[in-house]
Amino acid sequence: MAIAGGGPVGLALAALLGRGMGDLEVRLYEPRPAPKWSPEPMDLRVYALSRASQNILTSLGAWDAIAEARASPFRLMRVWHGESHAGAGTLTFDSADAGEPDLGHIVEDVLCRDRIWQALRDTSVKVAFGTRIESVETGARAVRVATGDGETVSASVLIAADGSDSPIRERLEFPVTEFSYGQRAVVTHVATERSHRETAWQRFLPDGPLAFLPLSDGRSSVVWSTGPEQAEALCRAGEEKFLGELQTAAGDVPGRIESASRRASFPLRAIHASRYCRPRVALVGDAAHTVHPLAGQGMNLGLLDAAVLAEVILEALARDEDPGDLRVLRRYERRRKGENLKMLLALDGLHRLFRLKAPALPRLRAMGLSAVDSAPLLKGLFVNEALGLRGDLPEAARSFR
Ligand SMILES: Cc1cc2nc3c(=O)[nH]c(=O)nc-3n(C[C@H](O)[C@H](O)[C@H](O)COP(=O)(O)OP(=O)(O)OC[C@H]3O[C@@H](n4cnc5c(N)ncnc54)[C@H](O)[C@@H]3O)c2cc1C
Repeated sequence: MAIAGGGPVGLALAALLGRGMGDLEVRLYEPRPAPKWSPEPMDLRVYALSRASQNILTSLGAWDAIAEARASPFRLMRVWHGESHAGAGTLTFDSADAGEPDLGHIVEDVLCRDRIWQALRDTSVKVAFGTRIESVETGARAVRVATGDGETVSASVLIAADGSDSPIRERLEFPVTEFSYGQRAVVTHVATERSHRETAWQRFLPDGPLAFLPLSDGRSSVVWSTGPEQAEALCRAGEEKFLGELQTAAGDVPGRIESASRRASFPLRAIHASRYCRPRVALVGDAAHTVHPLAGQGMNLGLLDAAVLAEVILEALARDEDPGDLRVLRRYERRRKGENLKMLLALDGLHRLFRLKAPALPRLRAMGLSAVDSAPLLKGLFVNEALGLRGDLPEAARSFR
């Protein structure tokens, strides 16, 4: 079995397979060097991980080591779009209402990869860092991959976890629907006068959402989605100018924004493959679907893909079935495609709703947020969605309590 891509999703899939498969051979290829987390500086790329993702990381033996190093729980989510988060048009989700200790954790990308990689070392999975898959040839009984090192390997199945630009998806001409949001997300970590109160804050601005996610050192991770020109200007601006712009956009929530770390920006696109598999090949994570980051769901969906695909493959092997057979891989596609598409469309709809410009819309949006805020049943549904604990969950994502 071969995996292309040692991002968080490819590594998690390898670890889940490695734990369940004893001595069966799994090889993972990743062009970047092995991940190495260090406490300073804090990684700019962070994820809001759901309870389902936490459970998957626990199943594969990485969560305790992640939490021990650095993970910041968030207990509240507050979403608003007017001038002040304290008035009408605000929606608050509280983990206590769901009887949960928190709604999720903010975790650094490199820490996640590092600790999954540590967990992988206890398995028979072979990981080749610094190695890219260059070509793929699918046959009736096997798939042959050639690496940049000149190695050629034959595998029963190839799993492409090679990210949103997935070279394997392109090479094998998987059909995709793709569109750009015409936006970039500017990310930075900021120190603020007021405490973040373990709350994930999100304000909908006319140009896109602005999020403040709580970090364990008291700072907040900012994800600011905006037009490409403004994003570029924000990344280039001197600190004083940047802080001034951010202060205006954030309103009264953080108090005075005192300092910001290095900044970076990422293009925002929606991509969805209309097929997740063909004989001997499957797509997972961003290679299969890339969503708007406004609800922090991309990696959560990818980890669920990994857990479902590992479950399907391990069950097939236990029944002596060929894991690369299209009938087996379709079981994975059936369980994940609808779920991922539903999330992609919901996030897209939300994004468009808050960007529409019509005189009556601001009042309607405020009414909508207030209406959900005062409907406990509806809010309960949203909280379960945020926790990731609904739908056809793989065993690895279920709660341990
Ligand atoms: C601004 C922003 C904020 C986000 N916030 C959140 C959040 O809060 N919560 C959340 O759940 N998600 C979030 N996401 C989404 C998240 O970043 C992605 O969904 C996640 O990184 C996908 O992981 P992956 O392993 O599928 O892909 P990637 O992380 O892109 O990894 C793909 C890997 O494949 C490797 N690769 C490429 N080509 C080859 C090849 N030929 N052979 C072998 N390997 C190859 C690459 O080197 C890379 O390591 C956010 C995204 C953005 C842009």
